[in-house]
Amino acid sequence: MGRKIGSRYTAHQILGRGSAGTVWLGEGPEGPVAIKLLREDLASDQELVGRFVQERTALLSLDHARVVGVHDLVVDGNDLALVMDLVRGTDLRTRLERERRLAPEAAVAIVADVADALAAAHAAGIVHRDVKPENVLLDMQGPLGPGGAHPALLTDFGVAKLIDSPRRTRATKIIGTPDYLAPEIIEGLPPRAAVDIYALATVLYELLAGFTPFGGGHPGAVLRRHVTETVVPLPGIPEELWQLMVQCLAKAPASRLRASELATRLREQLPLLAGMPPLDVDEPDAEPEESYEEAAPQPREKPPRRGAVPLVPGAAPADANRDTHTSMRVPAPDELAGGARGTARAPRTAGAVRPGSARHRASTRRRRITLGVAGALVAAAVGVGAWYATSGDESSPSTPDNGNSAPPVP
Ligand code: ADP
Ligand code: MG
Repeated sequence: MGRKIGSRYTAHQILGRGSAGTVWLGEGPEGPVAIKLLREDLASDQELVGRFVQERTALLSLDHARVVGVHDLVVDGNDLALVMDLVRGTDLRTRLERERRLAPEAAVAIVADVADALAAAHAAGIVHRDVKPENVLLDMQGPLGPGGAHPALLTDFGVAKLIDSPRRTRATKIIGTPDYLAPEIIEGLPPRAAVDIYALATVLYELLAGFTPFGGGHPGAVLRRHVTETVVPLPGIPEELWQLMVQCLAKAPASRLRASELATRLREQLPLLAGMPPLDVDEPDAEPEESYEEAAPQPREKPPRRGAVPLVPGAAPADANRDTHTSMRVPAPDELAGGARGTARAPRTAGAVRPGSARHRASTRRRRITLGVAGALVAAAVGVGAWYATSGDESSPSTPDNGNSAPPVP
């Protein structure tokens, strides 16, 4: 019984389905494993299979308590499979959807675990490139940590890199979420370790707020916000934690913390956060964006999670660029694809509404809708194409730029 995967593994039962394939509960020589069987169209792509084999060593070498280990890569007939540690639990997206917002202590404990995983990966010269709640698994059999958080493990190392390529994007239009994309990727720079820090800080924000800082609406708008907007403070968030987050969401990659330092600084915050309830953040106001979603459905994006965060009283927008999205328009291909900095700026509109005001938010939403389906599709194709184009440098392994030499935390 069960489906044979290569000569050593048997897949018994589906654990879940993802964008790249199906994950099975399986059995191998060392006991139970999780087997990710890649989609047929991916498995039949010779170039991808080649890269898959090329990446083998890097993927197999990453051995850390906070990383879902890859045991084996199987290329067998039409099957292309990753054999991984079996994590008995759920993923962070599922938990977030259930609870909507996490208590700060639990959120910080989980994110600190992921930062440990990234520290180990970056020290080994591996950039994850797809840090998001879907790729964080919570080990329900592990001991409960601060805030009642189960140990968190980062999965899907190297998968984004294997699967992303400009050609594939055009052919199959895989559109992942741009919510976690660092601005330098959007501007055409190769992804280095700091992109994972940006994505992880975005995850932390999302765990606390219930929505990502720059998500919502069509992908082109999200990309623009990453480049031009400043993150809006969350009401009630302890100042030190907020500062950590702001630093890791810096537009300039060099300004962000390294993973090991982020883990340490987050854990320092834990005692201060004990017992604090989830933040009281206004629900995103998402209706107008839903009409966009209906017009141009995206494969993985369910209801938009973003909304207007109430500005903290007296907090002036720190960045004059905040008002650039009142003049939002579809970015031209050369703006999004252009390697040079600053090319993705929109011209200011005379008489722009004050950023953060209700009228501003309303006008922003209206503009988002009036962009229309054609515009949205162009932005999606161009923007995401540019993103994939920058992330397909399969010839050389992604190297961390910040020389993170911290030893993996055992
Ligand atoms: P993809 O990245 O291709 O979208 P996922 O990695 O998210 O797919 O896997 C789909 C589902 O399988 C998820 O719901 C996740 O909970 C489950 N899953 C993935 N990896 C494991 C694992 N190592 N152990 C147990 N369950 C897993
Ligand atoms: Mg995944």
